[in-house]
Amino acid sequence: MRRTRSAKILATLGPASSSRERISELFEAGADVFRLNFSHGSYGDHKARYDIIRGLEEHYQRPIGILMDLQGPKIRVGNFKDGPVRLVGGGKFRLDLSDAPGDASRAPMPHPEVFAALKEGSRLFLDDGKIVLRTEKCSKDHVETVVVSGGMLSDHKGVNVPDVVLPLSAMTEKDYQDLEFGLNLGVDWVALSFVQTADDVAHLRGLISGQAGVLAKLEKPSALVHLDAILEQSDAVMVARGDLGVEVPPEDVPSLQKRIIRACRAAGKPVVVATQMLDSMVHAPTPTRAEASDVATAIYDGADAVMLSAETAAGDYPVEAVSMMNRIIERVENDELYRRLIEAEGTVPRATTADAITAAATQVASTLSAAAIVTFTKTGSTALRAARIRPDVPILCLTPNPMIARRMALAWDIHAVRTKEIGSFSEMVQKAIRLATREGFSGAGDRLVITAGVPFGTPGATNVLRVVQVDSEEG
Ligand code: PGA
Ligand code: MN
Repeated sequence: MRRTRSAKILATLGPASSSRERISELFEAGADVFRLNFSHGSYGDHKARYDIIRGLEEHYQRPIGILMDLQGPKIRVGNFKDGPVRLVGGGKFRLDLSDAPGDASRAPMPHPEVFAALKEGSRLFLDDGKIVLRTEKCSKDHVETVVVSGGMLSDHKGVNVPDVVLPLSAMTEKDYQDLEFGLNLGVDWVALSFVQTADDVAHLRGLISGQAGVLAKLEKPSALVHLDAILEQSDAVMVARGDLGVEVPPEDVPSLQKRIIRACRAAGKPVVVATQMLDSMVHAPTPTRAEASDVATAIYDGADAVMLSAETAAGDYPVEAVSMMNRIIERVENDELYRRLIEAEGTVPRATTADAITAAATQVASTLSAAAIVTFTKTGSTALRAARIRPDVPILCLTPNPMIARRMALAWDIHAVRTKEIGSFSEMVQKAIRLATREGFSGAGDRLVITAGVPFGTPGATNVLRVVQVDSEEG
């Protein structure tokens, strides 16, 4: 199975998408990577979904990426006694450390550090900023607020307090446990929420020690200050607009999104644009025009992937949301303006043999209208360097490492296939031709541009560029 677009789709799983049948439909509709959101669900839920995805991989014979998303130091309200409550503008609302379930006058919020930091006048943004409260009186175990902007509040909704600085450590006790659980399952990516500094990412990287890719979620203003250093420590990045757009004014989000995508493209690190992309599809079979345009903008900007959250996790139209996203991406990528915009922001190769060979390969492939660039890679790094250039020729990544094949599902255009290690030039050529043909990239007479490293099997040694013609052993 081959996708007919370059940008990838990341779909969050949840109650609306936990059966084998439903996850399979999401995959067929276009989901390339699935997100297990550890802010919700039990270990049993996550393991069941994990197993279903690995089963689908077998069935479709395609690597599928699985990203675990650590909750991080997210502040949340607790539960409500009788379901959702309505907060009315001008009314009072109390948050406290009590265990008792909430009602229309108060809610539990089990975060002493927040009560310690709040001051008179500090704002609290609930449920991605849909509800705004202003602190009137606070003590170390509760806060009395006035409702500035009302709405329905339900169990477990998030709280942001951008007016105060909280002494946050990037990983909570829960995150450490969840990480161990996820790594034991065998997830391909681990996402870290509320990253503030490069050290936060480096710490996680140390814990993961190569078992999965590390994705930094940019959703705090301080992460933007340290963007370059964070990128250096990360394998990928997410523009986490849900929390970001509460921590900074919403009008700042579009420019920040462009700035982050640009920095990631320059660094060659996959970048995901996330949250509210097709939000109205949680309850409607079609998106608003503004949402369609939002997805398109991320693609025109050159994002590697776009993400669905509640749309697929808890919405009424999860499959329709993926299909819609798939169609928008295809439409944009077929627009002649898309290539012009992508190329306008060309990337300069680094002064390494691998980068020089890769840049040459994409150019040769483009000049010859080759059927594909075929990269033999152990670490995935050559395929990512090719994707960084955003070539107008498909990238086929052949790797002996199944973990790498799955990880590549997040990156722009890369179609990864697991294959045995190669030992000779003739094997390299035969394998490239056989797999490019089997995967639907090439037919008789087509040319392929191959990159590999000699001696074969040495990681990080891409130093060979070879052009071959299908149906001709010697090229
Ligand atoms: P979340 O992250 O869905 O885990 O909060 C994404 C975001 O904040 O946009
Ligand atoms: Mn978030």
